[in-house]
Amino acid sequence: MTGTAEFAIEVQSRYQEIHSDRWPVVVVPQADELLSSWLNRLAFANGIAPRHFADVFGMDGGMWSARLDLALPDGAARLLHHYSGVARDTLAAMTLAQDERTRLLLPLRQTGHRRRSTWLQFCPQCLASDLAPYFRRRWRMATSISCPMHGCGLRDRCPSCGSGTAAFDQPGLIPQHHCTTCHFDLRTAAKVSVTAATRRFERCLHDLLRPEAAKGFL
Ligand SMILES: [Zn+2]
Ligand SMILES: [Zn+2]
Repeated sequence: MTGTAEFAIEVQSRYQEIHSDRWPVVVVPQADELLSSWLNRLAFANGIAPRHFADVFGMDGGMWSARLDLALPDGAARLLHHYSGVARDTLAAMTLAQDERTRLLLPLRQTGHRRRSTWLQFCPQCLASDLAPYFRRRWRMATSISCPMHGCGLRDRCPSCGSGTAAFDQPGLIPQHHCTTCHFDLRTAAKVSVTAATRRFERCLHDLLRPEAAKGFL
């Protein structure tokens, strides 16, 4: 054979990716996704049980990813950016640290007491319609009562065993839309009815508590 073109070796753009020290599976944050939800998906996609993913951040378990929702330390943000490739601004936007309405968040607690709220709500139908089920930032707000898209009430416990969502404590490779305690698929939970009057009240509340309005009295 003649000519050099047939033997030319080019470094392809993907070469760098192959030798990158990034985590192998890229997980793209979804609209209004809560940081802890993305962390759970990131861990699962890369073959690490969420409970053990806490070790990456030197955290001692517990509600570790839910705590990062409230305050993402600089070192953790740098690490996540480096290994996931997700921009620092995008990571910050998934937290609740910059939200003016932090006083309206559900308290960060795990409780078996049925009369007390858990830390996070969910709409089963939203989870069911997601290609990759994820938890929304707005479901952390105590003022969120219903889903505007599906017109149903939000749940905050597994209907099968009554546990709150606790994917941060999941010791196995099980997606976060399955109850950590009993493995019930939260996407199949029955619809919770909510009256039109309740939904009107909720809309009024949200109008009053918009970040711009809230600055005046919170
Ligand atoms: Zn919904
Ligand atoms: Zn359960």
